[in-house]
Amino acid sequence: AAKRARMVVANWKMFGNLALCRESLPLLAKAADVSVELVVCPPAPYLGEVGRLANRSGVHYGAQDVAEVTHGARTGEWSADMLAELGCRYAIVGHSERRDRHRECNQTVAVKAAMCIAAGVIPIVCVGETMEDRESGKTEVVLAEQLKAILQRMQKKAVFVLAYEPVWAIGTGLAATPEMAQDVHAFLRHQLALFVPAWGDSVTILYGGSVKADNAASLFAMPDIDGGLIGGASLNVLDLLSIYRSA
Ligand code: PEP
Repeated sequence: AAKRARMVVANWKMFGNLALCRESLPLLAKAADVSVELVVCPPAPYLGEVGRLANRSGVHYGAQDVAEVTHGARTGEWSADMLAELGCRYAIVGHSERRDRHRECNQTVAVKAAMCIAAGVIPIVCVGETMEDRESGKTEVVLAEQLKAILQRMQKKAVFVLAYEPVWAIGTGLAATPEMAQDVHAFLRHQLALFVPAWGDSVTILYGGSVKADNAASLFAMPDIDGGLIGGASLNVLDLLSIYRSA
């Protein structure tokens, strides 16, 4: 297999508290290995505490979103520079919950990814089709469109991570089968290579959507799946560690 960074990313969404940070970070720090990155994305108010707890361990951390401008009168938002200052290595952008609930379009997601890169934060860019898209045979068209908006703005040397998260699999307990996910990941690599040939092999692509301790290994065994973006199961540190060990 190609030499790509492998990683498991915990997306806590709007769950957890300081106690969860203080309980889980020491356990994660003990388990984190150089061969697979372990990344925690807590709610933004906890990033400072997670940063302190992760200090000098192998655990990386990041935000779940970022503003599409560098600064300004944007109540309730934060910039990529602020994340960089806090030591965030990553920021999730374009999660389906942001696209859906906050009406983020492909252009917005593309700008957010570019803001991250300019600030030295690696964007974890989420793409994914709805069940309606899939059932009407539009999965590849929708994904190609989402990807194009993002890649058009990306410098050739940019470092970014892609996360394939079928919307119908997020929080539903209905994960894609390893074969379904592999097919899409191979398609995404092909699309990446159309923009920059090296990207097809070099870009880390995570699968997300109802990854649990008992299905992670079969998903992560697929050749084009480099790890996972984990929602619900990441709130239980033992489940998260089990998933991490499967990667
Ligand atoms: C997610 O929110 O990115 C996600 C994949 O959630 P879950 O694992 O709960 O499906």
